[in-house]
Parts: sequence; C-alpha cells; structure tokens
Amino acid sequence: MSDPPLVAVVGASKEYADKPDLTVPLLYLEAIERAGGRPVVLHPIGLEPGAGSHWLDSFGALVLTGGGDIDPSFYGQAPGPNIYGVDAIRDAFEIELARAAFEKGIPLLAICRGLQVVNVALGGTLDQHIIGRPGLEPHGVPGGGSPVLHLVNVDPASTLSRAMGVGRAVSSCHHHQAIADVGQELRPVAWTDDGIIEAVESPNRPLIAVQWHPEDTAAGDPAQQGLFDALVKATETARP
Ligand code: MN
Repeated sequence: MSDPPLVAVVGASKEYADKPDLTVPLLYLEAIERAGGRPVVLHPIGLEPGAGSHWLDSFGALVLTGGGDIDPSFYGQAPGPNIYGVDAIRDAFEIELARAAFEKGIPLLAICRGLQVVNVALGGTLDQHIIGRPGLEPHGVPGGGSPVLHLVNVDPASTLSRAMGVGRAVSSCHHHQAIADVGQELRPVAWTDDGIIEAVESPNRPLIAVQWHPEDTAAGDPAQQGLFDALVKATETARP
C-alpha cells in the first residue's frame, strides 16, 4: 500500500495570545484526509521569483484556502475602501506557488481567496467589492460573518462537473469580491443565477478553483467532498 499523497496547504499568519501564529481551519484538512491525502501546512515566506517550483517538489497537490483580500497592486489597481485583511507576503507566496503548480501540472484546488489568487497569478483581475450591487443575490459577508448557502450552476462539460457529479450544487459562500477579467488559460465553469463567476478551471491542467467553500459542507455532501476526492485522485496521474 503506497503512502498517502502529500497535499500542501498554505496557512495564514495571525496573532494568537499576542504572538504570531499560523492557522488553517481544520475543515480543509479533514476534507483532504477523508479523500485519502495527507495535508502539510506551509508557512508563507518571501520567495525569490521562480522558487515556488522547488517548494512544490515534495508535494502531490496544492490547496489554496480562504482568507483576506489580495493586495490590489498584484492586479494593477489601487485599493478601494472595502479592502480588508491584506497580507502581501502570503499573496506573493501563494501567487508564486499557484504559477509553479500551473506550470508543473501539479493538481491544484483553489478555494474562495484561493480562486482569486489563481486568477490574479494568471493575469486576471478582481471586482474589489460586489456587495450591495443591484440584482445580486446574497454571497455572504467575509471576515467573520455567517456564510450563505446559494445554488451554483455547473457547466456539464467541465472537469468540475465530473468531480462533483451534479449540475447544480448548494454551496456555502462568503465573499465580497469576485472575478472581473478571467486569467489566461482559465475557463469559467460555474455561476450563480446573478452571473457571478463561481468557478474556473484550466482546460489543460489539473486546476479547479471555486469561489465557494466546499470544505464547509463536504462532510455531509458528496458533491462538495468530490472536489477533494478528485484532487487526491489527480495526484496518481500527475505524479512522475
Ligand atoms: Mn457566491
């Protein structure tokens, strides 16, 4: 029996008891473990350009998780008034790893902020604040607010659809930003009824990015757990 594939999960720096700490919500790690992977939490540090490739050598897959907003300078914009929780070191670290995973064909599941990181890493832009826009359905409030459950329509011809096994999925969402310009070599494959892009994937790489939080409901919803199962399964074919 072979060892479980190692799945890199980037942690977030936070203060705990007045000291710097590294955190990852356990729901991500538990979903990876149920899928048969062994999660390893990475500490985001400053990397030399191109160093992400070497960092990923030990891992079968990469997961980018939720968190605060990306510094808009990474997609060529000035910060608007609703930007919160920026950690430019984590931004640069995750952008570097996302590009490396894309180039090396390492399976990547990017969630919420992770989707935004992947889009920016591949040259896309973000809508800095969608909340309050006319015609928009609730997408939750990030940064401690309660998530909302909304329906997502999945392109039946997508890898995402094959991973989830459904065409419409009830998904836990809390985000105030969304994809504006889609990054290069990415294809939108899921939307809410209001037209917000809720997922992108790469036609040529094992990369799925979702704006919602599959880990929130994966323990009781096989469609959401299917995203983690597909990631771990993809390590079998991607491994050299
Ligand atoms: Mn949403």
